[in-house]
Amino acid sequence: MRHYLLAETNWKNIRDVKFDLAILPWGATEAHNYHLPYSTDVIEADGIAAESAKIAWEKGVKIIVLPAIPFGVNTGQKDILLDININPSTQFAILNDIIEVLNRQKIYKLLILNSHGGNDFKSMLRELGLRFPQMLLTTCNWYQSIDKSAFFENPGDHADEMETSLILHLAPGLVLPLPEAGEGKEKKNKIKAFNEGWVWTERKWSQISADTGVGDPRRATKEKGKKYFKALTEKLSDLYIELAKCDLKDLYE
Ligand SMILES: [Zn+2]
Repeated sequence: MRHYLLAETNWKNIRDVKFDLAILPWGATEAHNYHLPYSTDVIEADGIAAESAKIAWEKGVKIIVLPAIPFGVNTGQKDILLDININPSTQFAILNDIIEVLNRQKIYKLLILNSHGGNDFKSMLRELGLRFPQMLLTTCNWYQSIDKSAFFENPGDHADEMETSLILHLAPGLVLPLPEAGEGKEKKNKIKAFNEGWVWTERKWSQISADTGVGDPRRATKEKGKKYFKALTEKLSDLYIELAKCDLKDLYE
């Protein structure tokens, strides 16, 4: 029983605890090339949140990890079988209700640990910050927290070498043999500016990738996943400690 995970702990153990920080892992349910499970982003969110929270908890920080939200924004994958979309407006409503609970119960710090590129919480947190002025509302994309190129040979952003290595580490029984994976080749937009990163439009997923993957997964290994997971969770735990300890009235220097 891990008392920093709300799904595992009980009221007896936590009812007198004063939590400083709540962490909300947020995933998606979507195809990940041919070889990874639909729950890839949820397995990552849960696994990364639990391990990083454990490191911080063992250093005395009172944090609570909420159950991961399993559905994300998949508007660009509407024609891919059983990719479950929830709209940004639905996410806003869910966030509003969760933050209302935290605010009422005086847990004034929230970190969304985002696992899915289609989820974008920044504008929601701006608006919710007006509704809940006492709250510190924060979001991070764990996959951007450390430089992947130090751990992996091939780049990518969906079911790539990094994600495949992570799932080989976290849930190896759910990964098909790598020769069954597609090559994860992405078609780029013909208009150059989109590829330079300063103009954005949603990618139509079934048109940019034949196997739903973006990034060649075939050099993935369990060992790479383990090493990356360790570096990632250590860095995140440092963030949790800083967030938990920070003084909301004295954030800037
Ligand atoms: Zn993913």
